[in-house]
Amino acid sequence: MAKKQFKAESKRLLEMMINSIYTQREIFLRELISNASDAIDKIYYKALADDNLVFDKDNYYVKITADQANRTLVISDTGIGMTKDELENNLGIIAKSGSLAFKKENEAKDGHNIIGQFGVGFYSAFMVADEITVISKPLGSDEAFKWESKGADGYTIEPAEKAAVGTEITLKIKPNTEDDNYDEFLEQYRLKAIVKKYSDFIRYPIKMDITGK
Ligand code: ADP
Ligand code: MG
Repeated sequence: MAKKQFKAESKRLLEMMINSIYTQREIFLRELISNASDAIDKIYYKALADDNLVFDKDNYYVKITADQANRTLVISDTGIGMTKDELENNLGIIAKSGSLAFKKENEAKDGHNIIGQFGVGFYSAFMVADEITVISKPLGSDEAFKWESKGADGYTIEPAEKAAVGTEITLKIKPNTEDDNYDEFLEQYRLKAIVKKYSDFIRYPIKMDITGK
């Protein structure tokens, strides 16, 4: 008898991801920072193999910006960015990892630091955000695209404007409820502590620009 493939109900899978895989919400920041670091590493590895591409460490960083009045937390990077297809595949298919694919393609090179492998970390941001917007401009292109989603209902992709190569992820932080505090993910001392706890090992600078407490 022919072997049948398992299928997955992607909406339910995403809901499960968001609600039960992680025990602590705060790890969303670790996941997004890891992705940003991976994106910078990819430029670094490309530069090793390409004499026309110069990797000047000073130009590569992750930046966290919080706006308490608008309840937005932005994680941006100057990494390799994503094409329209990559937005579609890497952020539209649960458990698809562009970073794992990159590691496989570049197997011969030593010193891999790329962290990503399971293709699920990104979605952890839905634990703290009710809407996520990703604007990305890939290396070697002057077109940028915007990916937007409110979670299980799906996502949209449309052309966008972005000056520099890289990715900017905007989280619309959930309102507080009686049981849950989300304001903390917009506060400087808390964000600093989370970065210190989980992302101290990241090799690129993590800049912070947070107004308010
Ligand atoms: P993983 O990091 O384990 O691959 P994620 O769900 O965290 O899984 O991310 C899925 C994929 O989306 C990554 O493998 C990468 O290809 C792409 N991606 C996510 N964030 C970024 C980013 N900031 N810059 C470029 N690509 C990204
Ligand atoms: Mg990841």
